Amino acid sequence: MKIPELTDGGWLGPKYEMDSASHRFGKCSECNDIICVEKVVTDTRNTQPATNEMLYKVFRTHVKLKHAEDASPAAARIVREATENK
Ligand SMILES: [Zn+2]
Repeated sequence: MKIPELTDGGWLGPKYEMDSASHRFGKCSECNDIICVEKVVTDTRNTQPATNEMLYKVFRTHVKLKHAEDASPAAARIVREATENK
């Protein structure tokens, strides 16, 4: 079992026009879901690090919700054993 990764990242919309709404996206390597966040508004013109951080935060939530078993096989095993020993 492998841990899902965020792949095929890119930008949607105008990358350099700071006033325009662009989106940062990536794809889940496990289920091919597209994870997408709006560009973060910051005080500086360099919004990319903050936007990346946001994207990864959303992706980690996706992994937790959708691939919890893959992300933590130990926890899944405990649940399985608990339900089997009835
Ligand atoms: Zn996924």
